[in-house]
Amino acid sequence: MTLLIDISALTSMETDHVLESMFKARHDPPEDDLWVPHQSPFARDLIERLTKLGLDVIHHYQHELTRALHDGYYTVDIKSDSGAKNDSAPKNDSSARTFDTPERINEFIDWLTGKHWQQDYLTEEVAAIILAACVMGGLQRYIPNLTPDKARKILNKIPPTIPEAIKLNMITPARKNGIEYAQSRVAEQIVALREQTRHRFKSMLLREFDGVPIADLPKKARAIEQLAREEFPTLNRDYRRIVITEIGGYINRVLIAGCEEGTKLRRLEKYPKACVHCRAIDDRIYTVVSPDKPDKDGETEVWRGKTNIGRSASPRKRVGDRLVDRSPDERLWAAEDLMHPNCRGTWQVVNPPPAVPAWIEEER
Ligand SMILES: [Zn+2]
Repeated sequence: MTLLIDISALTSMETDHVLESMFKARHDPPEDDLWVPHQSPFARDLIERLTKLGLDVIHHYQHELTRALHDGYYTVDIKSDSGAKNDSAPKNDSSARTFDTPERINEFIDWLTGKHWQQDYLTEEVAAIILAACVMGGLQRYIPNLTPDKARKILNKIPPTIPEAIKLNMITPARKNGIEYAQSRVAEQIVALREQTRHRFKSMLLREFDGVPIADLPKKARAIEQLAREEFPTLNRDYRRIVITEIGGYINRVLIAGCEEGTKLRRLEKYPKACVHCRAIDDRIYTVVSPDKPDKDGETEVWRGKTNIGRSASPRKRVGDRLVDRSPDERLWAAEDLMHPNCRGTWQVVNPPPAVPAWIEEER
């Protein structure tokens, strides 16, 4: 069946936007696939650990938010050491409040967000997981065929801090800075999700409670409780996508950064329902080259910093009244990390692996 869409009235820019959205829509795997464990043993347990960390936070947040809406009141416990750090929170007052003014609603959501989402920019647990991802990412060179069991044993040996990992020769001191950047990047993603959560529920409550007579507040609050519940599956999925993208992408970047020039890598896109763009590069071999090499060939080479930022998923663009083919250097290519957010592509070293580091010997 042919389905025709009339885009003749659009400008070139609008047409390109529509085309891009259409082709990007083909990236999104079906919802249930989001929760399938990652196929790479190097990434799998780390993704599950970071997922659990965030889902627990979201779960407790949900519990307290929906309970308050169900009861029609909340109690800001300013004696607790977490949350309510903000100066606008009333001092020495832990009496129950209803959702009767915008001020109360803002106070409630700010308190709740501060209580459940870490205020610290970077938590120790997140930092430890990213450090472990760096170690595991580097190991891909040495043990291309790691089993999930052995991966777990190796993971258990990795200490939580960078200085300890350096002392155990799991990473070189030169890696420290790069790991800190990765840790901050992930922390920033989590902070962004926290702020979106705050905004989402503040907006909802401010919209829904607007103009409700005092006598109707409890009944209205219970109606909003239902609405709020419906938001949480989305939040959980958003968080899972962040985790898969950050850990999966980082493990790939670490591998590339550790490979000498000339190393041959096979791109693997072997997981259920890989999108059409990813399937197109599955099993292709790429050579690692220096980012400074002139005339790099994106079709056969990969280098540090090769991304798809600013590149297009759509094969065509609009010029005047015609659609013309995009040139290869405008199209998606095999990026050093992932083809797109939530993608599960990995690299496998084709060359014979070097001798494994001493600390790993017995786990090989
Ligand atoms: Zn894809």
